[in-house]
Amino acid sequence: MFSVNTRQFDFCDWEAIEDFDFTCPTCDGVGDGVMVECEECEGTGHDGNDDECENCSGEGVVMSDETCEMCNGDGVVVPIWNTAWDIDTYEVSDETRKEVTEQTNCTIFKDDDEGWWLGLTACGMDLTPDLCKAWIMLGFDWLPLEWISSIISTGRDYCGYVAGKDWVDKIYDAALETANAVERQASYMKTQLRGEKA
Ligand SMILES: [Zn+2]
Ligand SMILES: [Zn+2]
Repeated sequence: MFSVNTRQFDFCDWEAIEDFDFTCPTCDGVGDGVMVECEECEGTGHDGNDDECENCSGEGVVMSDETCEMCNGDGVVVPIWNTAWDIDTYEVSDETRKEVTEQTNCTIFKDDDEGWWLGLTACGMDLTPDLCKAWIMLGFDWLPLEWISSIISTGRDYCGYVAGKDWVDKIYDAALETANAVERQASYMKTQLRGEKA
């Protein structure tokens, strides 16, 4: 209860992970030459006279010469930390994947078994606050106990420094919810155990 499975991956071993899905959610895997909204027609695809926009041939988008900053033009975002956390069972939306990748030091990828994982795109410091933030973005209303211990030991200021000040309360609230649930569970267990003894 309130724990998350982890797995060690070797992200340098391309043969082992070649069937994984690391598609960059910001550019949808395009990398270079990202499609952006046509400025001429503001994305409508037609000009003021209802004719096809010449700039974009009516597509509403044009290819920019920009390189995607999220993936440096690679089209993929691969974690650099070998531990990944199991986002058990359910489908992760493109929107959530994008939100998490852009707003945290985490990324979400899919293994060759259709399983979803949360990975880290940075290392060198304790990024637990970002893991918590991503976990909440994913829709969980509880946090793994291991992360809560870490949050407690590094404190509120550090939490805000990593995850952003506006996330501190959300993370602490989720941690407290989890602690309350653990307490209820423990209390129930004690009652049951005492009952059986008598
Ligand atoms: Zn990209
Ligand atoms: Zn246009």
